[in-house]
Amino acid sequence: MLRRMLQELSRCTWMARTLRTAPGVRGVIGRYVAGEHVEDAVGAARRLRAAGLLITLDYLGEDVRQPSEALRTVACYQDLLVRLDEAGLARGADVSVKLSALGQRIGWDGVRPERDAELMALEHATRICEAANSVGATVTVDMEEHGTVDSTLSVVAELRAGFPATGVAVQARLRRAEEQCRDLAVGKVRVRLVKGAYGAPTSVAYARGREADTSYVRCMRVLMAGDGYPMLATHDPRMIEIASALAVLNERDENSFEYQMLYGVRPGEQSRLVDLGARVRVYVPYGEDWYGYLLRRLAERPANLRPHLRSLVTAG
Ligand SMILES: Cc1cc2nc3c(=O)[nH]c(=O)nc-3n(C[C@H](O)[C@H](O)[C@H](O)COP(=O)(O)OP(=O)(O)OC[C@H]3O[C@@H](n4cnc5c(N)ncnc54)[C@H](O)[C@@H]3O)c2cc1C
Repeated sequence: MLRRMLQELSRCTWMARTLRTAPGVRGVIGRYVAGEHVEDAVGAARRLRAAGLLITLDYLGEDVRQPSEALRTVACYQDLLVRLDEAGLARGADVSVKLSALGQRIGWDGVRPERDAELMALEHATRICEAANSVGATVTVDMEEHGTVDSTLSVVAELRAGFPATGVAVQARLRRAEEQCRDLAVGKVRVRLVKGAYGAPTSVAYARGREADTSYVRCMRVLMAGDGYPMLATHDPRMIEIASALAVLNERDENSFEYQMLYGVRPGEQSRLVDLGARVRVYVPYGEDWYGYLLRRLAERPANLRPHLRSLVTAG
């Protein structure tokens, strides 16, 4: 019940405003978000790289309503990439981008995204790819609400024509995930496999966790046997174990795939995998618009909220 409540709250704008100014919330944010400013992101990147971890940075914000907000997102990514380059951290780094933060849903009519909005997102994502490419970094496009999947895949296909290293996420809990993996497991394509953090009807998604897990394993099998570059984004010990077995079975060396985990989640496991010689990339979110992201993380694991409840309740 708490999980469903947190999922609902992640879309609640008045709660976002209230929590943003509540002092007790800072402790919870700090665990999952690098900070509100670009300097915080660069600082976290430096620490993670020093520990042998790779990074993908996410400027928080999604579902923008105005073209000016989408332009601001582009400018923030460009600024981030310049600063990473100045700090000597850009080569091999990745940035994670949500197309809804680049205008994909401006003019959304409830059935399909307007082509104009899709083109706006494509134009903006292209600018971020150019900035990343110029400093030796890559871009991965996050997958969001199930209704945007086709639009996102078509934008990524167009981006890849100019920037072949552009990656994309596949959500295993969607029924079409395995088919998407088959289409993408070719020619060094970078595919991030996730379970999926967004609610979706049972007509398009598996309802139960077990079914989603089985789908994740089927997708891993396809990706690890294919010619692409799998990015296995999960904290699930069982999935990580199966991934290691599939790497051996498919004779993949440690540079031909990577694990990905979220900032602040299972840091001990991140280090353990690095010590074993694996490539591990940490997804580092930063920015003022942390509310939706934070609530999705807490909804995934409500138990993590418990240690912070006292400070939230007593917050002034
Ligand atoms: C790098 C990265 C990028 C992502 N990008 C996207 C995206 O583009 N689109 C999208 O929809 N979703 C994305 N996600 C989120 C993803 O879909 C899942 O919601 C999230 O990763 C939780 O699923 P899980 O595979 O870790 O396993 P879960 O099913 O949540 O958990 C399985 C097991 O993993 C362990 N575990 C999980 N979380 C924790 C924790 N916080 N602390 C300790 N142990 C834990 C526990 O043992 C748990 O029983 C991304 C996730 C990562 C890691």
